[in-house]
Amino acid sequence: RMSPPAVHRVAVVGGGIGGLALARALVRKGIDAHVYEQAPSFSSTAGAGFILQPNGSACLQAIGVPRDEIEQIVHPLRDVTLIGGAGRLLARSNAFGDMQRRYAQPLGGALRAELVDVLAHPLAAEHRIHWASRVVAVAQDDEGVTATLETGERVRADILIGADGVHSQIAYAIDAAHERLLRESPRPGGYRFQPALGTNSYEHERVFYGVILDADLPFRHEELGNPHTLLEELSHGEFISYGLGRGRDERSADGGPCRALMWMQTVREAGDYKARDEWTAARDPARANDALRAFIARSPFHDDHPIREAAERTARGRLSSFPISARAHRDVWHHGRICLLGDAAHATLPYTAQGLNMSIEDAVVLADVLADADASGSPVHAAFAAYTRVRHARTKACVAQAEANAALLRSRAALLDRWRDSLLGAVVSGGVLQYAFNAQIEGCPVDIQSARAA
Ligand SMILES: Cc1cc2nc3c(=O)[nH]c(=O)nc-3n(C[C@H](O)[C@H](O)[C@H](O)COP(=O)(O)OP(=O)(O)OC[C@H]3O[C@@H](n4cnc5c(N)ncnc54)[C@H](O)[C@@H]3O)c2cc1C
Repeated sequence: RMSPPAVHRVAVVGGGIGGLALARALVRKGIDAHVYEQAPSFSSTAGAGFILQPNGSACLQAIGVPRDEIEQIVHPLRDVTLIGGAGRLLARSNAFGDMQRRYAQPLGGALRAELVDVLAHPLAAEHRIHWASRVVAVAQDDEGVTATLETGERVRADILIGADGVHSQIAYAIDAAHERLLRESPRPGGYRFQPALGTNSYEHERVFYGVILDADLPFRHEELGNPHTLLEELSHGEFISYGLGRGRDERSADGGPCRALMWMQTVREAGDYKARDEWTAARDPARANDALRAFIARSPFHDDHPIREAAERTARGRLSSFPISARAHRDVWHHGRICLLGDAAHATLPYTAQGLNMSIEDAVVLADVLADADASGSPVHAAFAAYTRVRHARTKACVAQAEANAALLRSRAALLDRWRDSLLGAVVSGGVLQYAFNAQIEGCPVDIQSARAA
C-alpha cells in the first residue's frame, strides 16, 4: 500500500456488548482493536437477561460468532402471553414462533453475562481486553487519539470508540456543551417526552430485575412456568418474564440445556435519578429483597400475580433495582477521530427488547465502514459520517418506539388500564404484534437470509 492505513489501531472504551462486538468485528477484518474496560473482570452474575432477536443473531454470525455458540446460550421463545390483574388470560400470540419460522435465526432469552463470555473469549486469549482500565480523559491531534486511564497510563490509537454505555464520558469529547445540556440538567418531570428540550427526563419509575436460576423445576404459577412464553402482566406497572439459556456446559437431567428465568417489574415512585451504577452497584441482597418485599406488601397485587412466586424464587444476589431515565436521541455521534456506539450513542428505555441488539448492529456497520476506510485510505471522519447516516434513523425509531410502548404500558387509572388491556389484547392476538416485531427486524444491516445460509 502506498499510503499508510487510515485505521490501524483502534481503542474501544467499554467492554459491554457493543464494545466487545465491535472489537470482534474489527479483529476479524484485520484491524488491531483493544478494549479498555473499567471493571476489574467480567462478572458471571452481573446483570440479568435480554432477548436476542433474529437481527442480533444474524449480526453476531456476521462478526464470526458460530451459530452453535449462540444456540447454546439462547433459550427459544415462541409465545407472547398477556394476563390481566386477576390472572385472567387476555391474549396469547405465537409472535416469536412466527419470527423463528420467518427468519430461521436463534431467537430467545439469554443471560447477558453469557453473551459477554462468548464475545470476550477469543479477544481475551489475544490479550485484547484490558480490565481495570477506566478511561478518564481523551485528547486528539492530527495523528491520533490519546486516552488517559485512571491508573495514569496513556494509550495511543488511530481512533477511539466510546462504547461506554448510557452514562458515557466519551460523549463529552464529541460536544461537551450539548452533552451537559442533554444530561446534567435532568428534569424530574416524569411521564413527558421532551425531545425539544433535549434533556433527560426522570421517568418517576424504578425497575426490579430478578433472575431465577432453577427454572427447570416446576412453578406453581402455570404461565410463569410456561417455558417458551414471554409473560406480561400490567395491573401494577409492567411485569415481564421469559426463559434464558443457562450454563453453556450445563445440561438438565434429561440431557437438554438448562433454563433460567428473568423477570422485570416497573414501580412508579420517586428516587435518585442520578444513579450511575445500575447493573454493577455492589448489591446488598438483604436490602434489595427488603425493598421488593415492601413493594409487594404495599401494592394490591392479586394472590395469583406471578411476582409473588418470582420474588420467592429469585436467586440470592440476582435482584437489581434502579431508577429509569429517558434521554432524547443524540444527533451528533462523532468528532474527529472519536465516535460513539451502542447506548453511548442511543440509549433507549427497556420497552422494545432491541437496545442490546442495536449495539450489535452498530458494531457490524462501524467495522464495515472502518475496514473500507482502511483499505481505501479515506479519512476516518468520512467513515464515521457514513456509519452515523446508516444508524441514526434506525436507532432513533427504536428509541421512539420504546417511548411509545412505555406510554402505553404504564398504569394510570383503572378505567384507562382496562381500555389499554383490551387494546393490547387485540394487538397481541390480532397480528399487529407480529407486524411490529417484523418491522423492527427488517432494517437489519445484515442480510438475515444469507446469515441463515451461512
Ligand atoms: C454489567 C451490565 C449488565 C447489564 N445487564 C443487562 C441485562 O441484564 N439486560 C439488559 O437488557 N441490559 C443490560 N445491560 C445494558 C445493556 O447491556 C446495554 O443496554 C446494551 O447492551 C448496549 O450495550 P453497550 O455496550 O452500549 O453498553 P453497556 O453494556 O452498558 O457497556 C458499557 C461498558 O463500558 C464500561 N465503561 C463505562 N465507562 C467507562 C470508562 N470511562 N472506561 C472504561 N470502561 C467504561 C462499563 O463498565 C460497561 O462494561 C447491562 C449493562 C451492564 C454494564
